[in-house]
Amino acid sequence: MAQFDEARIRENVAEHWNELVELLNQKIALKSISAQGIAGEQMKRSADFVAEQFQKLGVDAKVEQAVTEDGKPGAWEVIGSLVVDENAPTVLLYAHHDVQPVPGPEGWTSEPFVGTVQGDRLYGRGSCDDGGGIIMHVGALQALGKELNVNIKLFIEGEEEMGSPSFIPFIEAHRDEFEADVIIVADSGNWAPEIPSLTTSLRGNATCDVHVRVLKHPVHSGQYGGPILDAVTLASMSIASLYNENGELKVPGIASQEPVGGLQQDVTEESVRKDAGIVDSYKLAGTGSLASRLWTKPSATVIGFDAHPVEGSFNVIAPEATYRLSVRTAPEQDPNEVNAALKAYLESNAPFGAEVEVTPLEAGRGWAMDPTATATKDALEAMREAFDVDPVNMGQGGSIPFIPELQRLFPKAQVLVTGPEDPQSNAHSPNESVSLPGLQKNVVAEALLLAKLGADDAR
Ligand SMILES: [Zn+2]
Repeated sequence: MAQFDEARIRENVAEHWNELVELLNQKIALKSISAQGIAGEQMKRSADFVAEQFQKLGVDAKVEQAVTEDGKPGAWEVIGSLVVDENAPTVLLYAHHDVQPVPGPEGWTSEPFVGTVQGDRLYGRGSCDDGGGIIMHVGALQALGKELNVNIKLFIEGEEEMGSPSFIPFIEAHRDEFEADVIIVADSGNWAPEIPSLTTSLRGNATCDVHVRVLKHPVHSGQYGGPILDAVTLASMSIASLYNENGELKVPGIASQEPVGGLQQDVTEESVRKDAGIVDSYKLAGTGSLASRLWTKPSATVIGFDAHPVEGSFNVIAPEATYRLSVRTAPEQDPNEVNAALKAYLESNAPFGAEVEVTPLEAGRGWAMDPTATATKDALEAMREAFDVDPVNMGQGGSIPFIPELQRLFPKAQVLVTGPEDPQSNAHSPNESVSLPGLQKNVVAEALLLAKLGADDAR
C-alpha cells in the first residue's frame, strides 16, 4: 500500500501545470545550443536558470564548470542535493539543459526559440529534448513538496548534445555527489503520448576506417582494366562480404541479442516504412522481429566513402579507397570486441588479396535495463497509475553514451531511462515538440515513482 496520497499528487501537478509550461517556454527562449560552445555565456545562463528552479524547491543546487580531458574549460553543469533522511534511499535525477542547433528556419512552422502551442503540443527547440526532462524533475519535486521521502541528487548536464566530452572527468571528480541507489534519466521517450514506456536497452557503437589498396599508383583503365579491379570495387566487395543473403551481418564475433526487459510490442513494418520514408519497392533486410532488428541486433552503416566524384572523373583504375564503418552493437556486447572482430574478418577476407587495413576508432558501450530491479517495477506501476494504461517498454537503436558510463561508474545503481518524447517529437529535427498531456502524465508518474521508492525502504 502506498504511503502517500496519489490523488493529491495529481492535483498538485495540475495546480502548477501552467507555471511548469511557462518554465519550459522560458527554458526554450534561452537558446542553450552547446554546439555554439559548451563554455559559452548562453550555456552559463541556461545552467543558472535551471539551478534556480531547483533551489526554489529546496535543492541545494549550484552551477559548476567542468574541465575537458585536455584541460580546457568545459560545460556548465548543474549539480545539487536534498537530504530528507539519512536512511532513505537516494535518487539521482539526470537531464541535460543544452539543446541541438537550429541550422535554419526550413521545416519549422513556428519560431524555434519561442514555445508555441499548437493543438495539444508545445513546439520549440528543446521542448522535449531535454527541456521536457527538466520539467519532469522540477514538477515531480514540486508535487511531492514536504512529502518527499527520498534523498535527491541532481545532475543536469550542459553538453549531452556534444557527446559529453567532459562527462567522465566531471563524474569521477564528483563521485560522492552522484552516488545513488536509483538513477532516473529523463532523456528518452514513450511509445505514444498516451502510452508510457521505460527504455529497456541501448545499442553500443563501434566505428572503424577500412583502407583498401590495390596499386602503388593510378594506371589507365584501358591499358590495365581486366586483371586489376579498381579499389572502389574492391572496397565495395569488402563491404558486401559483411552480409549474408538476408542482409544480416555474418562477421564471426559480432553478437546478436533478442529484446530485453519484457512488456515490449513489436514494431510494425508499416510504421517503419512511413516514419523512415522507405521507397515502396525496397524489401526490409534481416530476419526476426523488427524490434530486434532495430534495437538489439547489430547493424552496420557505411557513413563515409572516399572515392573520386563522378564530376571530373576519368579513365583510371583507382589505386586505393577508404570507407568508414559505423556498427551499432548488441546492448550487452563490448564494442571493442566488435572492432576487433571487424579487423580480423575484413583483413583476412580481403577481396582478391588486396591490402586491407582496418583502423578502429570509437567504441561506445550499450546498455540493458535490469527488468527485475525494484525500481523498474515501481516505475512501471507509477506509469500505469499516471497514464491509466499499461506501459509498453521499448529499446532504442541508438546510443546514449553517458548511460552505460553511469552504470559502469555506479554498478549497483538501478538505472531507469524515461522521458517525454514520442514518435512525433522530432528531437534534433525541425518542429521539435512535446505532448503537453503526455508530459503532465510523465510528471505525475515521476512523482509517484519517487514516492514508491521512498515507501519501499520503509517496508
Ligand atoms: Zn537528449
